[in-house]
Amino acid sequence: MQETTRDIKSMTLEELAGVMKENGFPAFRAKQLYRWMHVSLVRNYGEMTNIPKAMAEHLGKEYPLTTVRMIDRQISQLDGTQKYLFAMGDDSLVESVFMRYKFGNSVCISSQVGCRMGCKFCASTLDGLYRSLTPSEMLEQIYEIQRVTGERISHVVVMGTGEPLDNYDNLVRFLHLLTDENGLNISQRNVTVSTCGIVPRIYDLAKEELSITLALSLHAVTDEKRREIMPIANQYSIAELMEAGRYYFDRTGRQVTFEYSLIRDVNDSSQDAQMLAELARPLKAHINLIPVNPVRERGYRQTREEGVRAFEKKLEKRGINVSIRRVLGRDIDGACGQLRHRHLTDQKQETVSDNAGE
Ligand code: SAH
Repeated sequence: MQETTRDIKSMTLEELAGVMKENGFPAFRAKQLYRWMHVSLVRNYGEMTNIPKAMAEHLGKEYPLTTVRMIDRQISQLDGTQKYLFAMGDDSLVESVFMRYKFGNSVCISSQVGCRMGCKFCASTLDGLYRSLTPSEMLEQIYEIQRVTGERISHVVVMGTGEPLDNYDNLVRFLHLLTDENGLNISQRNVTVSTCGIVPRIYDLAKEELSITLALSLHAVTDEKRREIMPIANQYSIAELMEAGRYYFDRTGRQVTFEYSLIRDVNDSSQDAQMLAELARPLKAHINLIPVNPVRERGYRQTREEGVRAFEKKLEKRGINVSIRRVLGRDIDGACGQLRHRHLTDQKQETVSDNAGE
């Protein structure tokens, strides 16, 4: 776990009570601070009106509050989806997305700065992994969007940049804080964590007693094909992944989701649909079809619309619960990691031209 001894926004209420004691403040202050940070969502100690000034100053020095800075925001003219680029305290950049649905507002957050999983179709991995995010940095993406939009967030998906199970301890701490009844109190049932399939961590997550949804990024139905597009498949077979998914379902009672990005002529044949149905059936898994979002650097193409619908029909005919991911924000940098990647590329180009000018 990353150091949380000074990162006050990553602390549980009990840990906060410990900090109050260590610093000679009364215990009841812990709950006040916690509310200011996780319910009122203030940005700094100065806004905490019932905290004595001297105490606020002391905490400000010893326990700086994690915040994120909005660097860019794109709003889709088509559906109101908002894509955010945030800078962390060390200027690392991450993306988050705000989406409005009938059932509420959903935020998709990043769990790492970059990613080291190397999936071939994904823009997030193009620049590799820089570092993992702390629990407070994950929370702040949601908090800042709630501040900026003034709208309550009811759903959270950990499907932005990064592999959440490659940042396991911070993820679990984040999930507890996010769904804590003393904090933002988002229902665990409204939280989804998506993984490329780090099998041992799936077993660990199943044992955490959290009622969150697990999404498995499958994207191929044979080990051979999966290895071509997802390096993690060299470590764990589809059979092992299915067994872990089964364990998660049995242990938590939560239906798992398979994510399946349709890539033209790669994984979208009739036989693929048939085999996918066979994998989903024993787990009663829900399948989420995503027409692959083309990433300039990769060259994969989307399955045509008719092909996507035909693929869906084939699954439905076999009694599988399937949905096609609504494509939101088509007019903004839609694919995972594209906004950040574009900014990084722009920066590099600026550096190059700066140097050229010297
Ligand atoms: N690392 C996690 C979560 C991040 S991505 C995971 O692998 O699940 C969230 C989902 O979007 C994953 O299913 C991922 O495979 C998929 N994805 C990534 N890039 C994509 C693209 N260009 N088009 C469609 N889906 C993509």
